[in-house]
Amino acid sequence: MGSVAKYDVVIAGAGPAGLATALYLSRTRPDLAGRIVALEKSRHPRVKVCAGGLIPKTMLALRELGLELEVPAVEVVRGVARTEAGDVDMYRGDPLCTVVRRDEFDARLARAAREAGLEMVENCRVLDVVQSQGEVRLTTERGVFETGLVVGCDGSGSTVRASVFGQAKESVGRAVMTDLPVDPERTPEFVERRYRFDFRCVEAGVSGYAWSFPCLIGGRPHLNVGIYDQLPPHRAGEGARSAALLAELRRAFPELGLDALGRSAGTFKAFPIRWFNAAERFARGRVMLAGDAAGVDPLMGEGISCAFEHGKIAARAIADFLQGDAGAPARYDRELHQGALGRKLRILAFAARRFYGPRHRWYFRLARVSRKAQQVGVDWFNGAEHFDELPFGVLIAKWVGAVLFDRAVR
Ligand SMILES: Cc1cc2nc3c(=O)[nH]c(=O)nc-3n(C[C@H](O)[C@H](O)[C@H](O)COP(=O)(O)OP(=O)(O)OC[C@H]3O[C@@H](n4cnc5c(N)ncnc54)[C@H](O)[C@@H]3O)c2cc1C
Repeated sequence: MGSVAKYDVVIAGAGPAGLATALYLSRTRPDLAGRIVALEKSRHPRVKVCAGGLIPKTMLALRELGLELEVPAVEVVRGVARTEAGDVDMYRGDPLCTVVRRDEFDARLARAAREAGLEMVENCRVLDVVQSQGEVRLTTERGVFETGLVVGCDGSGSTVRASVFGQAKESVGRAVMTDLPVDPERTPEFVERRYRFDFRCVEAGVSGYAWSFPCLIGGRPHLNVGIYDQLPPHRAGEGARSAALLAELRRAFPELGLDALGRSAGTFKAFPIRWFNAAERFARGRVMLAGDAAGVDPLMGEGISCAFEHGKIAARAIADFLQGDAGAPARYDRELHQGALGRKLRILAFAARRFYGPRHRWYFRLARVSRKAQQVGVDWFNGAEHFDELPFGVLIAKWVGAVLFDRAVR
């Protein structure tokens, strides 16, 4: 590769956010093939520390993009959330979640994006991003790239973000996970196609929950178990907090024998999750952020559906920008704050402050009061049939109708 490569648009990072941006763009502007490049520090299929739960909203996005899943998956139709106030059962009669392995899922997206004309340079880490008048310059492991527009899709530890927006880490939580081989005949997650959440760790000061998802690794049944903590590690007192998280994970699933796994570095894998902070900006000059680089769901750490949503909005902004609309990045920023996704993420941030705050007991009790209200909440979170995009007034009316008059939620 020459020392300076020029493209109309550079996508930094080829995970779900970067690949969704490319895929959505290819649908409206197939003529842009060859003018856009994605720079990826790894090579697909690459490992991504993630539970791989795709909520119905993500499945809708795949359908919208005309993509079949094409990777092994376990469909979950039931759920239980254990809380300090008692258990909440979830059953909606249709899938609550489709669990994939991220190496396979992301490689499948990468293949589709390539087939749609995306140029991708792998093993190419972005090291620095500098904006000057009318141009953005990216220094990478494989030379310099110059472009008119950058979408930073390089995850929670985004270099694009650090270079252009600053180093703030206040809104970064993390999750720790491991995979256990299991006998599917004797494991409720497989027998009942159920996932489990356990919020009892909130009592012990964890701002999050433990989970157990059924999944297939190399065709073999496993449980992916882990724990999410919204609190930034540097604020939490790193060493003691990690030990506390693992202790809470063991307490949530005593029957899994997690004690026997020890604490060896290879057993549990930790990874940061940047969550949505309404006070932050998601575009500056000719640089936009998407996916974890921008910030995702603070309550559950769910980020794959956000990555697809951001990709869809970014693709529109790119198309407008390339048609001479210099205000497109600023509009992208506004839409991420004020559009349907921004509204959803603000509500989830509000919920995280309540459920993980000092009056958590009261909120968990409240959440258990009405089964219909729980169904509204689950459908809204999952974005089933685009439920999460309904105007606020319509949602409230549905909620009141379901809770007070026993009307169907959907
Ligand atoms: C333990 C854990 C469990 C999770 N479980 C779920 C779940 O069940 N469901 C869910 O929806 N979400 C889950 N999440 C969150 C989810 O993983 C992320 O929200 C999602 O991956 C975001 O997609 P992304 O494309 O923004 O970032 P990523 O998936 O992180 O992709 C970023 C890409 O950029 C590349 N990259 C990074 N830095 C550079 C650089 N400097 N130069 C070039 N390339 C770079 C990376 O290699 C990567 O391919 C989980 C997260 C964790 C940590």
